[in-house]
Amino acid sequence: MQSHSENIRLSGKKVSFVPTMGYFHEGHLSLMREARRLADEVIVSIYVNPTQFGPKEDFSKYPRDFERDAQMAGSVGVDVIFCPSNEDMYPAGYQTYVEVGQVTKNLCGVSRPGHFRGVATVCCKLFNIVKPHCAVFGKKDFQQLAAIRRMVTDLNLDLEIVGMPTFREPDGLAMSSRNVYLSPEERVSGLTLVGALKLAQKLYAAGERKADVIIGQAQRLIAGAPFTDIDYVKICDTATLEDVVDIQGEVVMALAVKVGKTRLIDNSVLGEELRA
Ligand code: AMP
Repeated sequence: MQSHSENIRLSGKKVSFVPTMGYFHEGHLSLMREARRLADEVIVSIYVNPTQFGPKEDFSKYPRDFERDAQMAGSVGVDVIFCPSNEDMYPAGYQTYVEVGQVTKNLCGVSRPGHFRGVATVCCKLFNIVKPHCAVFGKKDFQQLAAIRRMVTDLNLDLEIVGMPTFREPDGLAMSSRNVYLSPEERVSGLTLVGALKLAQKLYAAGERKADVIIGQAQRLIAGAPFTDIDYVKICDTATLEDVVDIQGEVVMALAVKVGKTRLIDNSVLGEELRA
């Protein structure tokens, strides 16, 4: 992979990269289309990274379908699909990890300890292997994008990070590989995440600036649906991801909710259009 990318770079061409865990949906494809627009050679990785899953999480049952993924990636003009093995990525004796600070502590950092350490480590390794000029990420994983941007700045990694809007189903549910876990009834309850974000946007547009008021109403909407178990509903500063009490600068409402056994996340920057 390194020598392939190096040859492309030496010929004066640009390399773009989309890291993924596979089981593609339109959200992934929107990132690949942007990567296609940005560069001559588009590389997509498919790697279900064990170090970003907790011991009780869905690593072993995470959905996988390489043939389908390859066909979908081909349809949007991806040049290379890079699928390393666990032995390639974490051979015996492996002992180096990347730890991003403050931006990984709140939100998913609370309920998924070690998750962002795994994400930052695998992305750092993939950037060194794929050697891209730019890498495209989804804003659906808002905290992940913040952590990657921080790592790239702090470690002087020589690539540009591009963030893309969250791609949604026609009814507003944020696309996710994990949506296949949802029963039809759970899927209906899953719509309360985007419902809560829309409600927050409405309250914000009407002038509400007390975070607890907006959060309280959003929580009530989600908790009123069956199968839901709220992990967090928070309003945070978009730069630091720390909780905000009185909303002044740019803030994001971020949600994580278990619907049945499936953990869903979503977010929206207040005052920005929610495309749903
Ligand atoms: P994953 O395969 O879930 O690790 O996601 C790979 C990339 O796709 C990450 O940058 C995600 O943020 C992005 N992504 C996942 N779902 C969506 C979505 N609905 N819209 C846009 N990007 C997404």
